[in-house]
Amino acid sequence: MKNHTMFKSVSLALVIVFTATAFNAQAARPFELPPLPYDYDALEPHISSEVMKFHYFWHHKGYLHNLNNLVADTEWEEMSLEDIIIESADNPDKQGLFNNAAQVWNHTFFWQSMHPEGGGAPEGDLLEMIEDSFGSYAGFREEFTAAAVGEFASGWAWLIQDGDELLITSTTDAETPITEGKTPLLTLDVWEHAYYLDYQNRRGDFVQVFLDYLINWDFAETRLQ
Ligand code: MN
Repeated sequence: MKNHTMFKSVSLALVIVFTATAFNAQAARPFELPPLPYDYDALEPHISSEVMKFHYFWHHKGYLHNLNNLVADTEWEEMSLEDIIIESADNPDKQGLFNNAAQVWNHTFFWQSMHPEGGGAPEGDLLEMIEDSFGSYAGFREEFTAAAVGEFASGWAWLIQDGDELLITSTTDAETPITEGKTPLLTLDVWEHAYYLDYQNRRGDFVQVFLDYLINWDFAETRLQ
């Protein structure tokens, strides 16, 4: 039994090394996966290390792998990630490119939207803007929760700056507010892969945990225009 377990561990390690090598060998100018801003287990007990590993190493890296394949040896290869997203949006022939590019961007943004010491209400200018836009922090919480729980399909909930105002919205699949020239401050991934292993069908619990323990207001502040 012990040997069997060890064999499985060694096999898994080899698969990971092989896969990582294959990812790196795909394109002449590959986009690279930004490192996670914390360890896999840093958000426990709110998000398990297992979910973070799957989410970052397989889902996020998978989108990156597809993106690099799709742009290799094309005119898209020299463009920035943001330009690829904006140029491919609303182009039905480039749906696959848009989906993978936007998912790479959205996930990198999502990791930064959380912090092990996060959660609760913001302070200073951000709190004032929250109160101006939503009446109170409680009003923000209610509206953000409704957007995150109410997004029927796979998607994202966003806090966005539009001029002096803050807005809450949700997007479906890979859609992202940067195609509309708006400035996202924070996002929450509400695809099932983001929470199902930890919370099963209880998306609402996942949203509350994000707001109470993880939301990274320091990051949002760096995004203010
Ligand atoms: Mn995701």
